[in-house]
Amino acid sequence: MTFQDLGIIDPILKALRAQGYEQPTPIQQQAIPKLLKGKDLLGCAQTGTGKTAAFSIPILQQMYEDQSWDRRRREIKCLIVAPTRELAIQIDESIAAYGRFLDLRNTVIFGGVKQGAQTRALSKGIDILTATPGRLLDLMGQGYISLKHVQFAVMDEADHMLDMGFIHDIKKIVKQLPQDRQSLFFSATMSPEILKLSKGILGHPERITI
Ligand code: AMP
Repeated sequence: MTFQDLGIIDPILKALRAQGYEQPTPIQQQAIPKLLKGKDLLGCAQTGTGKTAAFSIPILQQMYEDQSWDRRRREIKCLIVAPTRELAIQIDESIAAYGRFLDLRNTVIFGGVKQGAQTRALSKGIDILTATPGRLLDLMGQGYISLKHVQFAVMDEADHMLDMGFIHDIKKIVKQLPQDRQSLFFSATMSPEILKLSKGILGHPERITI
C-alpha cells in the first residue's frame, strides 16, 4: 500500500517523499481514508506510530481542496491541542513539512515563554494552530484567538492532558468550537474517564486501535 493508494494529492506526496516516507504506517493506513471522508475519529495509539501524519495529512488535504475560503483572509480552521510544549512544537514542525507545498499557514503557541512572538505570528493570520491548553485559553481571553472558524479539532495525548489536570481547560476550549466540525481524539489508554471526555467532543466516531 502506498500514500497514493490512499488518495493523497500530489503536493503532499511530494512533501512525503522529501521526508523519506515510502509507505504509510498501519495507523496511517487505517485513519487516512476515514478522515478524508470527514469522519470523527477516536484513536487509541502511542506516539511513535506515525500518528501525527495520520491526522495531519487528511486535514491538510481537505483544507487545501476546499475552495470556499478566501486565501487572502486567514482564519484558524484547524486547532490541535497537545499537553506539552515539546509535543506541540513537534506537531507544528510535522505540519509545516507535510504542507510545505500547500500555501497554508501554521504556528504553535505554548506557555512558559513571553507571548509577544506568538501573538505577532497569530496577527498575521493562521490557518492551522497547534497549542497547549493554558496558553491557548490565555490568548483567547485576551482576544488574540477566535475559534469561530475551526472546522478540524484534534485532541492529542488526551490521557496526558487528564493526568496534567487540563480537563477543565479542555472543556472550556471545546465549548468555544463550532458545532459543525470534524473532531479527532487520540489517547494511548482508554479509561472510562477518557471515554467520557471523548464523548463530549466527538459525534459518532470511527474507532481505531494500534
Ligand atoms: P509520530 O508517531 O507521529 O510521533 O511519528 C513517529 C516518527 O515516525 C516521526 O519521526 C515521523 O517522522 C516518522 N514517520 C511517520 N510516518 C512515517 C512513514 N509513513 N514512513 C516513515 N516514517 C514515518
